[in-house]
Amino acid sequence: MHYLDSHIHLQDYKTQEVKNVVNNAAKSFVTRFINLSSHPNDWNNVKNLTSAYPQIIPAFGVHPWYITDISNDWKEKLEDLLNKTEQAMVGECGIDRLKNSDTAIQTDILQVHINLANKYNRPLIIHSVKANREFEKLFSILPERTVFHSFTGSVEWGKELQKHGFFIGINFSILRKKNADEILRNLSFKRVLLETDGPYQNNISGEETLPQNLPYLAAEIAKTAGIPFDEFSDILSRNQQEFLGE
Ligand SMILES: [Zn+2]
Repeated sequence: MHYLDSHIHLQDYKTQEVKNVVNNAAKSFVTRFINLSSHPNDWNNVKNLTSAYPQIIPAFGVHPWYITDISNDWKEKLEDLLNKTEQAMVGECGIDRLKNSDTAIQTDILQVHINLANKYNRPLIIHSVKANREFEKLFSILPERTVFHSFTGSVEWGKELQKHGFFIGINFSILRKKNADEILRNLSFKRVLLETDGPYQNNISGEETLPQNLPYLAAEIAKTAGIPFDEFSDILSRNQQEFLGE
């Protein structure tokens, strides 16, 4: 089993060098990464990391927390990056009503990302917090390969996303949920991807999350869901391939 960390911000590590993060992950069979940018200021870093490490797939976008300080030409720059980087994905983008109740601007910016993902046939990586209703309206225009990252929501919402063919990204935060076993026992693993969201969403308080912990996450999820690990890892391998378009 080779793992894909489907959501990480490698440029944001403070206590580790990227080289060590990537090399230690490889020892745990975590051999590919989707590396997310959050702001145009990240784009160059993310691009450079991709040139240095072939196992890193870049994603370019503007996170909903950072939409207020972007220059007017961000759309052109984003499109240019997608044009020049064949394997690049689109994200991190989305709507976060917990952070900002004004959804109009967030939706406008998200729409640009959706249009570009569709135009260039690239996967889309979504940050969605308290925005189920907003996303329901967008279901029909989201690309087939859309992942809703950091899923901790209700089983009902998870099933709704899966019914529409979207992917769900799960990280350590789901295991901290009081009803984690109820969620994981009732959720189908079709189209589920694993992620660390490193260096964020730490599983050990106060420390940066490392992708080398992904096999541990996989084992914990299978155990909590009550399914054999082999069965879970088969499904996961298939899901990873589907999302990467392999
Ligand atoms: Zn993220």
